Amino acid sequence: MITLKEALTKSNEEMAELRVELEAKAKESGLNAYVGFESSGEGVPILIKDNIQVNGWSVTSGSKILQGYIAPYEATAITNLKSKGMMAFGRANMDEFAMGSTTESSYYGVTKNPHGDDRVPGGSSGGSAAAVAGGIAIAALGSDTGGSIRQPAAYCGVVGMKPTYGRVSRFGLAAYASSLDQIGPIAQNVEDAAILYDAIKGHDDRDSTSADFEIEDIANNIDSDRKLTIAVIDNYISEADEDTQKAYAQTVKALEEAGHTIVHKNMQNTKYDIATYYILATAEAATNLARFDGVRYGTRAESKNTEELFYNTRSEGFGDEVKRRILLGNFVLSSGYYDAYYLKAQKVRHIIRDEFNAIFDDADLILSPVAPSVAPKIGASEDPLEMYKSDMYTIAINLAGLPAISLPVAKDDEGMPIGLQLIAKAFNEKTLFDGASSMEKAVNYTK
Ligand code: GLN
Repeated sequence: MITLKEALTKSNEEMAELRVELEAKAKESGLNAYVGFESSGEGVPILIKDNIQVNGWSVTSGSKILQGYIAPYEATAITNLKSKGMMAFGRANMDEFAMGSTTESSYYGVTKNPHGDDRVPGGSSGGSAAAVAGGIAIAALGSDTGGSIRQPAAYCGVVGMKPTYGRVSRFGLAAYASSLDQIGPIAQNVEDAAILYDAIKGHDDRDSTSADFEIEDIANNIDSDRKLTIAVIDNYISEADEDTQKAYAQTVKALEEAGHTIVHKNMQNTKYDIATYYILATAEAATNLARFDGVRYGTRAESKNTEELFYNTRSEGFGDEVKRRILLGNFVLSSGYYDAYYLKAQKVRHIIRDEFNAIFDDADLILSPVAPSVAPKIGASEDPLEMYKSDMYTIAINLAGLPAISLPVAKDDEGMPIGLQLIAKAFNEKTLFDGASSMEKAVNYTK
């Protein structure tokens, strides 16, 4: 597949021909990565996750409850990429309301991993990652609340980047957990990820959490020769499986050989990451999803009165995982448990952030696994608690609001990709891309 950088040198006519090709190849692939083939704008086609509004397109967040809903306005990330020679093309499959780690909970069915059709692509942005890995998209947008860009990128052997919270506008992104959500790129390589990140980033008055200062474009200034100090969190790695630990050790060696300085650190509170995240994310999700009542958006169930309308619409419209999270979220926000769970989780969130910041006093970047294993088999993640545990390496980064990038470094014996992530200080995307570009060269991953 042509890279995003190359594609940006082509004419609109050539890109129009490519779109026809992509649609045919996507249908033939059997991956179920695309759930629609709409076009909006002119230029290089970028695949869009089904929770980002493109004016006039269906936007369903992979849910039955939003069937029939048409976006009445455009997400700022889409407006921005359209001004940079790109266009929106096609809807990427996802876990319902971005809740999940496998893309098995979508109303549109399971997406498959191009590296093994019995494997999940990861989630929730599984359609975006599978399409880029499967050669049926040049690049894609995903969203990352607790790993949903980085983890599917790692499972599929592509590059996925989560910007600093506030760097990319959330205007027009269906809210899952508003204090954690960020839109970001999934691409074939680090440079393409930087190009797409540059295109979508920037201040936006319509998002009150948008950072209101500008930073320069990165893609043209990536310095892969810059020597950095990279922290490895020794007590963090032991939870990962043997192949991931091996890939980690090899990458550390490759980074040292490339001239970077490795420093060893420990983090004391990682055992609280999952509980903290699943309290805060579900609390915010329960609140955000209260708006889906059968009156204002999408599907409306048969009913005799208003109460029944809410009840039936939500019972029939939401899938099991979404219902589980609404229940959990309402529980932790209820008057009897608010202090014990929600308030305490907010405090722990600050401790987690402070712990990251302390490491950044001595290091430019942190190297970490993305997931404890390679992509699981389809159907193997039925126990929700087990699935939540697989988010152990990604969610703290969202709690701390930091930027991070996942890139493939190795494959296991069965040819399944293993990804690792670099994490940077808030708003230090330049250092993140410099380090990622160097790491990409150092590990020399072959597709
Ligand atoms: N797997 C995590 C969850 O289910 C993260 C999802 C995401 O980043 N959207 O909440």
